[in-house]
Amino acid sequence: MDFRPSEEQELLRASVREFAEAEMRPHVMEWDESQHFPMDLLPKLAALGLMGIQFAEEYGGSGMSAVDYCICIEELARVCPAISLSVAAHNGLCTSHIAMFGTDDQRTRYLPRLVRGEVLGAWGLTESGAGSDAAGMKTSAVRDRDGWVLNGSKNFITHGSIGGVMVVIAVTDRAKGHRGISAFVVEHGTPGMSAGKKENKLGMRASDTSEVIFQDCRIGADQRLGDEGQGFINTLQVLDAGRIGIAALSVGLAQGAYEAALRYARERRQFGQPIAGFQAIQWKLADNATRIEAARLLTYRAAYLKDRGLRMTRESAMAKLFASEIAVKAADDCVQIHGGYGFVKDYPAEKYFRDVKLLTIGEGTSEIQRLVIARQLLNQ
Ligand SMILES: Cc1cc2nc3c(=O)[nH]c(=O)nc-3n(C[C@H](O)[C@H](O)[C@H](O)COP(=O)(O)OP(=O)(O)OC[C@H]3O[C@@H](n4cnc5c(N)ncnc54)[C@H](O)[C@@H]3O)c2cc1C
Repeated sequence: MDFRPSEEQELLRASVREFAEAEMRPHVMEWDESQHFPMDLLPKLAALGLMGIQFAEEYGGSGMSAVDYCICIEELARVCPAISLSVAAHNGLCTSHIAMFGTDDQRTRYLPRLVRGEVLGAWGLTESGAGSDAAGMKTSAVRDRDGWVLNGSKNFITHGSIGGVMVVIAVTDRAKGHRGISAFVVEHGTPGMSAGKKENKLGMRASDTSEVIFQDCRIGADQRLGDEGQGFINTLQVLDAGRIGIAALSVGLAQGAYEAALRYARERRQFGQPIAGFQAIQWKLADNATRIEAARLLTYRAAYLKDRGLRMTRESAMAKLFASEIAVKAADDCVQIHGGYGFVKDYPAEKYFRDVKLLTIGEGTSEIQRLVIARQLLNQ
């Protein structure tokens, strides 16, 4: 057992941190207020290898490990959780689904463009009537002579309006329940596919979240991703790994909030001394620093198992549950330590506070993580 990062991992962390500080930090509030994903950041993210972090070098990917992936997502989230969310959804959902279950031909067709950052990836599972109970989806894919016809709509889709390639999960045989669900890959601009309502969100506002509508959208037979009827099972595998990304995002956000609180506590003077001198503030800092370390270790353990090809359903759910919940606490304490200045937009505290709540909801709510963990414990 070795808890130390390698020299390469230290270097990776330093280079992503430097990038985030230089290219993202100055624009964070401008992107948040305009609710605008900065497309001009894509080539810069791609140049650092962040648009294809874990994908094979033969497709132009960076070939990094799952632990390296956590370091990258963490460092982006420390500065801008919304950009980190977009990078995580692009890598961990859409691109990952294609890399894990696509044919050689599909990988060759889609991965190079995704990892070069020429297009953003979107991944559509959720519907207005099917969130936690995703298998209750209505969107259908009906076999046509030379392909499939998609009908229905997906909501809350990250990059729903700006994604160039989207993985869509749809019902192919309703009678078979979750074994009658398949995945498809659809390109932006395909006739019959359109973006619907763009959500006006509490936080993560620089990350596009939109509805995607399919109306007699015809796609080729070669656009089915993975075996027919395996789409839901494959989706659960994608989510097992995706949750490690959300756990890392939570650790990074918590770290950013904690550092902002620590900085402020040293600067702010009341009763003739820095507020960091008060035990009430010190305990908050100590508790957050401890919780963040614990969440980081849970997250890296899940990533370590993934890197070894071992099952990590339980570990990734535990990491996501714990890290997202402690991040909410870190952001809350960050606002509290800032007092009134935590409530205004001149300081980063209020944005961490708004962004963080998504982390206990997206890619499975905290309640669903507990359900997944309990099922694993009870062998159900
Ligand atoms: C910003 C953002 C980005 C997103 N990006 C994507 C994306 O890219 N792709 C995608 O497919 N989806 C995406 N989602 C959707 C997200 O995954 C869902 O919102 C989430 O899974 C919860 O579903 P829901 O919102 O329908 O809530 P519901 O499922 O309606 O849950 C409501 C409440 O009931 C609880 N609940 C539900 N079932 C149970 C149960 N069995 N036991 C106990 N409690 C339960 C929940 O925990 C929650 O507290 C995104 C959402 C947001 C907000």
